[in-house]
Amino acid sequence: MLLNLVEYHWAEYIDDALILLARLDVKTVPLAGGTYLLALDDESIEAVVDLRDLGLSYISEDAQVTRIGAMTTLQQIVDSPALKEYALGILIKAARYSSASQQIRNSATIGGTLATGIASQADVRTALVAVDAEVVVRSGSKTQVNLSGGTADRPGFPLSGVVYRGKQERHLACSSVAEERKQGELIIELILPHINYSAGASFQRIARTESDHALLNVAAVVAFEEGICQKARLVFGGINMEPMRVHAVERQLEGQPIENIAEEAQLLTILHHGLVEFRPPSDPQASSGYRRICSVPLAHQALTEAMKIAHWRTVMTRRSGSTGKLGRERV
Ligand SMILES: Cc1cc2nc3c(=O)[nH]c(=O)nc-3n(C[C@H](O)[C@H](O)[C@H](O)COP(=O)(O)OP(=O)(O)OC[C@H]3O[C@@H](n4cnc5c(N)ncnc54)[C@H](O)[C@@H]3O)c2cc1C
Repeated sequence: MLLNLVEYHWAEYIDDALILLARLDVKTVPLAGGTYLLALDDESIEAVVDLRDLGLSYISEDAQVTRIGAMTTLQQIVDSPALKEYALGILIKAARYSSASQQIRNSATIGGTLATGIASQADVRTALVAVDAEVVVRSGSKTQVNLSGGTADRPGFPLSGVVYRGKQERHLACSSVAEERKQGELIIELILPHINYSAGASFQRIARTESDHALLNVAAVVAFEEGICQKARLVFGGINMEPMRVHAVERQLEGQPIENIAEEAQLLTILHHGLVEFRPPSDPQASSGYRRICSVPLAHQALTEAMKIAHWRTVMTRRSGSTGKLGRERV
């Protein structure tokens, strides 16, 4: 309960929300779906700014990127036809697993989930890091100054209390949003870069039951060009754990011909070497050792699936004789 809440603002413009959030005298926080915030026991919060009317609930695509507004709910992501094609639907799969209850998914927003960070226990954060998602954050400021009029030679009318409104926008990598986002910065949207059409992707998880939080989850994305791996992403996540990219494995995959890394023994060797330094945190439900032991087979499953899809897509593209039809599909 927010026992000391004294102000409720329903902002209609982003700039107004930013000014309210920038206030230093009244602790003001954004209110999105409310599933996390309203259950918080935080007596320091004095004001909330409801984001519902800011027009931040959208999923749109252009030639370069797909954009997801911060107020888009997890269920809207699950139902999105555009995201069904994007990265073979791994965002949809991960968003569905993020909360087993559709009631929660109907309210919980992607902006709220990212702002909540580790406490959201949301699988979707792992998938977002794997697709190199960027988070657009914006902050506002209001300064009041007194202007003296004219110059010494030509005096004019002085103006007092002139208000300057400023705003600043930054793009943060999804992997670092938890550390880099400053207090008062509003999450505006997520930007998903288009991924090579002949890429493959997969999302896998280990949990006690389908509806439980993931003890360990993994998202893999591999993109090939002329049979050579151009880009590889392998990201682990899970309960009480920030998404962790495994750069050592990614580096070993990139630049390799698909025949080499699709071969089971070779892939397992890469994973055993690349995951030597993988040190996930311990949690009462899953120790670090347990997660490490699970990491190789889970990553193997995800990468094998992603590479099979990539291989199949490459073959289909060659058969179609051009990148035309398949080139429009984003995977
Ligand atoms: C009983 C229960 C169980 C839940 N279980 C799960 C679960 O298993 N997995 C899961 O993923 N989620 C779960 N949730 C929901 C979880 O709280 C949401 O996933 C999400 O973390 C909150 O989203 P929201 O839109 O409701 O945000 P809110 O509750 O409105 O806000 C959460 C925090 O983010 C800030 N915030 C919101 N929007 C923005 C923005 N645009 N910019 C900056 N800051 C912002 C708020 O100020 C607040 O600090 C559960 C919720 C409940 C009530």
